[in-house]
Order: sequence, then C-alpha cells, then structure tokens
Amino acid sequence: MAPGRLITWSPSVTLVPSRGCFNACGYCSFRLPLHQAIPLEPPEALAQLQRRPQALEVLLLSGEVAPGSPERRPWLGRLLALSRLALAQGRLPHTNAGPLSPREMAALARLNPSMGLMLEGLGPAYDRLHRRAPSKDLSVRLGQLQQAGRLGVPFTTGLLLGVGETQAERRQALELLAQLQRRWGHLQEVILQPWRPDGEQGRPLDRQERADLLATIALARRLLPPEVHLQMPPNLWPLEALPEALEAGIDDLGGIDGTDVINPAYPQPTPQQLERLLGCHGWRLRPRLCVHRAWWPWLPPGLRQRVQRLAVALEGPAASPAHHAC
Ligand code: SF4
Repeated sequence: MAPGRLITWSPSVTLVPSRGCFNACGYCSFRLPLHQAIPLEPPEALAQLQRRPQALEVLLLSGEVAPGSPERRPWLGRLLALSRLALAQGRLPHTNAGPLSPREMAALARLNPSMGLMLEGLGPAYDRLHRRAPSKDLSVRLGQLQQAGRLGVPFTTGLLLGVGETQAERRQALELLAQLQRRWGHLQEVILQPWRPDGEQGRPLDRQERADLLATIALARRLLPPEVHLQMPPNLWPLEALPEALEAGIDDLGGIDGTDVINPAYPQPTPQQLERLLGCHGWRLRPRLCVHRAWWPWLPPGLRQRVQRLAVALEGPAASPAHHAC
C-alpha cells in the first residue's frame, strides 16, 4: 500500500484545567466567567486519566487568565502540574491554553512534546467574533506561532472554517502558515476545523459547506509544505463522506477522546468504525503519539526517549491489514 494511503489518529484524553476564560469569543459555549470556574484538581485529573487507560495523549485544553493578572501564576502552575501528572502516568501532555510568554512556553515545552494554538483565521468575520477576545488578535496569534518556532516546539495550529470568511481570506491565512513553516519548520499539523453550531443536536454540514471545505483542503495541500499534516476532526465531518476529505488531502484525524468537550453535540466515531470505513476505501488507519515522528529529533533527550518508548507500546508489532465486510 502506498504511504499516502496511511491515515493517523491519536488516542487521547482531554483534561480541562479550567473553563474560566477572560476572553469571550462569539462562538464559545465552553467558557465560564473566571469567578465561576472550578479548577481541575489532581485527584480528579488522575481519575479521568485512569478512565482512559489507552489514551497516550493528554490534551490540556484550558480557558485563559489575562497575562499579568494575579491568577496567572497559579494558572500556569496547574498546567505544569497536570503535565507532570500525565508524564508520571506514562502519557504525553499536549497543552493548548492560549498565548504564552516565552518563559511560560519554554517551561511547558520541557514537559510537553508538542503544543498547540489555533490561528483561527483572518478577516472581518473573525474580527467581529473576537471583539471581546484580546488573545485572538491576529498579531498575537502570529507572534505565538513565531515564538514556538524560535523555541523549536513541535506545534499544532489550524483554522476555524465557516464563520463567514471568504475563500480569499482562507487562502491568505494558509499562505501565512506556509510562510511560518518555511521559516521555522515546526508546524507538524494544521487542523481544518469546520465551525459547527452548538445545541442539543449537531447540525451536519450541508452539500455547499462540504464542497467549500473540500476546496479549502485541496488548497491547503497545495500551499503548505508537504511535511505538514492536514487534520480534520472526524466528528465534525459526515462519516460516510470522510473518504472525500482524505482524497482532498486530509491525512490525520487528530486526538480522539470518548467525547469532544468543545463540540459535545457531535459524537466521536470509534476507531473501529473509522478503521472499517477507511479499509473499505483502501486507506489504513494507524495510531500515533501527539508528536509526529519527523519532529522527534527536536525534543529534549529525556522527552525524546520517553516518546520512543511509548511509540513501541502504541504501535506494537506490525499487524497485517484487517479484512472488512464493505
Ligand atoms: S479563548 Fe477559547 S475558551 Fe476562551 S472564550 Fe475563546 S474559544 Fe472560549
């Protein structure tokens, strides 16, 4: 089978250190006002890890505290403590907690083999949604991606798509990411995330939305250097149409937990469902760690050795392709 027919995903568990956030993005149903948020304490975090023993990636997905506020230090302390807890449990933390100072990012990078921050997008539609979200200012986001490059942190970023932006604005955003990658080489994956409305029940993408997104995936594949993986969260795309997204250029399905804490109305497919569907279309699904193999040489020696050991545990002996009734 050609290597291009390989699709990766990361068995993951999401810990939310706090939903408290000083931003108020127009589309967010995750945040709580800072004074209402109850921080995640280590015993509860440990219980959540133990409920997902197979998840080697621990996604730390947090609301944000304003830089310079008195709560910033304990907030960072919690991220560091949860990262250490993940490592102590034989897992790998991947923190996505908004913009960080160089010192904060460097401290987390000593424990996190990879980290992430969405670019989100550029143009008036995003400006409107981010009116009350200082962290989402485009120059702040680009500065963070540069800082991660300077620090040599394997990084995940992405675009939130379908909030009213034009195809030209999508292209501009992808060109900015391509420039960053050519300069620093640290972008291991770009998530192309369809925005979906919240509610009791998810609303599937319609035909036109899908066609626009397929064009964007193909454009991203043309514009971004080939080492950058293109990621689609499989619960936000109609499962039966996933092969179309793969044909357009998606080669990674990201971290998959039992539920999606950001989009709980959109159930995650199981790895077995994905394997069966992909197998029927000639694709092979393979689990990976939060840091893609090409970026392992970037890691500090202790973290690199840990990653290498866990990869052996995750991948095991090469299995023969399964046969599926299609
Ligand atoms: S920064 Fe994240 S958590 Fe905070 S309001 Fe925006 S989307 Fe929600």
